[in-house]
Amino acid sequence: MKVLFAVSECVPFVKTGGLADVAGALPKELKRLGTDIRVIMPKYGLIPQSIREKMEKVTDFKVKIGWRNQYCGIEKLVQDDVIYYFIDNEYYFKRDSLYGHYDDGERFSYFCRAVLESLKKLDFQPDIIHSHDWHTGMINYLVKEEYSMDPFYSHIKTVFTIHNLQFQGIFPKSVMHDLLNLGDEHFSIERLEFYGNISFMKGGIVSSDKITTVSPTYKEEIQTPYFGERLDGLLRFRSSSLIGILNGIDDVLYNPADDPYIKKTYNEMNCQNKKKHNKLALQEMFGLPLKEEVPIIAMVTRLTKQKGLDLVKRVLHEMLEWDIQFIVLGTGDNEFENYFRHMEWAYPNKCKAYIGFNEALAHQIYAGADLFLMPSKFEPCGLGQLIALRYGAIPIVRETGGLNDTVQSYREDNGEGNGFSFTNFNAHDMMHTVRRAIYYYHKKDVWATLVKRAMSQDYSWAQSAFKYNQVYADLLSRSGKSHVL
Ligand code: ADP
Repeated sequence: MKVLFAVSECVPFVKTGGLADVAGALPKELKRLGTDIRVIMPKYGLIPQSIREKMEKVTDFKVKIGWRNQYCGIEKLVQDDVIYYFIDNEYYFKRDSLYGHYDDGERFSYFCRAVLESLKKLDFQPDIIHSHDWHTGMINYLVKEEYSMDPFYSHIKTVFTIHNLQFQGIFPKSVMHDLLNLGDEHFSIERLEFYGNISFMKGGIVSSDKITTVSPTYKEEIQTPYFGERLDGLLRFRSSSLIGILNGIDDVLYNPADDPYIKKTYNEMNCQNKKKHNKLALQEMFGLPLKEEVPIIAMVTRLTKQKGLDLVKRVLHEMLEWDIQFIVLGTGDNEFENYFRHMEWAYPNKCKAYIGFNEALAHQIYAGADLFLMPSKFEPCGLGQLIALRYGAIPIVRETGGLNDTVQSYREDNGEGNGFSFTNFNAHDMMHTVRRAIYYYHKKDVWATLVKRAMSQDYSWAQSAFKYNQVYADLLSRSGKSHVL
């Protein structure tokens, strides 16, 4: 079974969030299951030079984007047995950030068409194209509406995964004509039209043979107006093709027993003794009082409203009256960056903020923190809580999306659970849940059991990769091709 995995970011090349973690880990696991999977993504200028040096040029050609004839180089790298292709065009991809440019519509129209054009040049005829989020939604659309007329592409089935429905790639109608070479017939409610504009996310949803999203709860949520981002009607219409498959984490990259970034490695058997060294190291690094008994509550997150920061902002000053320490690592909206800078200044012995993106520090925080706060307004899957669990930092989450599927609130009647959770998007509900968690933090035996249980659960990709493989195999068997898994 041959699968092309088209994505806009991927660990270890470039990352802005969980999408890159998924793209970095899932193909490796699918490869292990015997799938011939290849990944294709833009060759960003932000990919470290040490990695770019290892790429090998395969070919170059021109891609037609409206009246433009744009250069497209294809570079290749084999890593962990997976083949990665990079679409090279410095005009589009040598920028200081991945997204948020005035011409994103043009950049990703180019990327989508370049991916499809590259297949013939690479002589790689996938059975399945698996695209991810709005950046690649138009690949699946173009396959269905244009490329399927060509025998080289006609057998290809498409899968589209929604990692976050909030970001949709909405552009003016002119993008459809001038960049995608699509006529007026595509500007209809059944196709690309979205409240007077076009939506790349919608393109992926209307055209793909199967749509997946990253947790069973989010799959249900996005079919409702509250979470549906104005696409809930369409998602209800396509519900028979919609599947929720929970993300995993890369258990090699996120392994407290073998993590080069942390002070002392540990596992579920020796965490009681060894985790505390990481806690003290973290306190020292941030200039916090070195107090083993004081719980550290941490957040590692994009600083946006999605992540529930309005709740934190509402009650953190009250929480900091308690005997706790609070650490945040994040970057995002000015409002929240400045808020945490202010709180650090106001509570120098209790609250610390690192505003920026720092992979090593993220690992050190997961290893050193006692509690991991993730009060998201919505959360398609969430990886932060999974990494935290693996490192024995007990999550406190709001019951939404993947947080609901992965964190079970501690129950004192039967001792079950691996974290703490609350239902309503309400600051004081969150605050009371944090207080409840701290209460149990001080009950040594309960806490030791919770940490051990959190660390010993399976968060790997194995099960989920198997489910993705099944989605591929089902599609192929329906089209008359049978494949051995
Ligand atoms: P999202 O994809 O919505 O941002 P996830 O929880 O799915 O949220 O994934 C976030 C990933 O990015 C996790 O691996 C988390 O550790 C990492 N991360 C988020 N912010 C930072 C940061 N400032 N520095 C380092 N890693 C970060």
